Amino acid sequence: MRWALIGASRIASGHMIDAIRTQSGAEITAVLSSDATRGRDYAQTQGIAAAYTDLDTLLAEAEVDAVYISTTNEKHHAQALRSINAGKHVLCEKPLAMTVADASEMVRAAEAKGVVFATNHHLRNAGSHLAMREIVTSGGIGDVLSIRVFHAVSLPEVLRGWRIDNPAAGGGVIPDIVVHDADTVRFHLGEDPASVVAKETASGMGDGVEDSVMSVWTMPSGVMVMTHESFTHTHAKTGFEIHGSKGSIVARNVMTQAPAGEIFLTTKDGTNPVPFSDHNLYERSLGLFYQATRGEGRPSADGVDGVKSLAVALAVKEAATTGREVTVDYGGI
Ligand code: NDP
Repeated sequence: MRWALIGASRIASGHMIDAIRTQSGAEITAVLSSDATRGRDYAQTQGIAAAYTDLDTLLAEAEVDAVYISTTNEKHHAQALRSINAGKHVLCEKPLAMTVADASEMVRAAEAKGVVFATNHHLRNAGSHLAMREIVTSGGIGDVLSIRVFHAVSLPEVLRGWRIDNPAAGGGVIPDIVVHDADTVRFHLGEDPASVVAKETASGMGDGVEDSVMSVWTMPSGVMVMTHESFTHTHAKTGFEIHGSKGSIVARNVMTQAPAGEIFLTTKDGTNPVPFSDHNLYERSLGLFYQATRGEGRPSADGVDGVKSLAVALAVKEAATTGREVTVDYGGI
């Protein structure tokens, strides 16, 4: 599988390049950057043969089977459509686009072209979340009553660029983190939030965008969901709790890119730690993506998952800015 990186980004250099290279037979043949010097430096540092500044030229000249899109959020839509039209498989970063209509168009274009299109939601690949899901689906906590998501972190200094001051590029904690939480809750419950209420604020970091939000989601089954996302919480740590009629799962430090954290299951028999696999989240995601391109199975999070996580995030934004309960609009997908 020959890959092109669309975007000379930190997520690619920090995680995805290594994860791609662990896949048998995978190589990265090209990178796209809007800046020729940055692209050339990035290619040299990362050992990538070619750097381009024009996507159509890259798609025409470079030997590429799949692209990984990790530019800022407002660019994903156009870059994905052009890559799909060129017959490339696409792994796209979250949020897929700025609107549900654009994200749906990306999914439909890939279906029409017969290429694999997936969303890089890493958390559902984590050993911790796979272990929690196994407990839930095997009835280990009885009927699920509620989920509490704690995803308030301190945004690392190096990431305090477009995320904290550029709404046009998709900045703000809602597009950045609520999408992940929406995907993770959907993964655990197997259902889509119906409506949301929310409050947001800028608590010292966001400049023209929210840096903190709390929301409550109504699920079709009646399960209650509450989430807290923030860029400004230095010591809060992350967590994920699933409470059921016969037990509770309490996990800490599991809303992260690393295979880390701890999980405890409490039932009438007491509280016990839950073991889980410490495999690399992104490598698992790429492995399933690669299999899907060979017609085996599906990506861990496909395009529809990406549309739905975006739809929830946009509903949370609307609820937070209007003060109203908002029905989640999945755009018919
Ligand atoms: P970066 O800010 O690192 O990169 C985004 C774009 O910014 C790049 O495409 C690049 O443009 C430009 N850029 C990068 N470095 C510089 C620089 N030093 N000076 C000027 N411009 C620069 O973004 P992230 O890697 O944090 O995020 C990229 C995407 O990935 C987003 O959609 C984000 O939501 C997603 N993401 C997903 C994660 C996950 O776990 N699934 C984790 C982190 C991010 P150009 O390409 O034109 O050179």
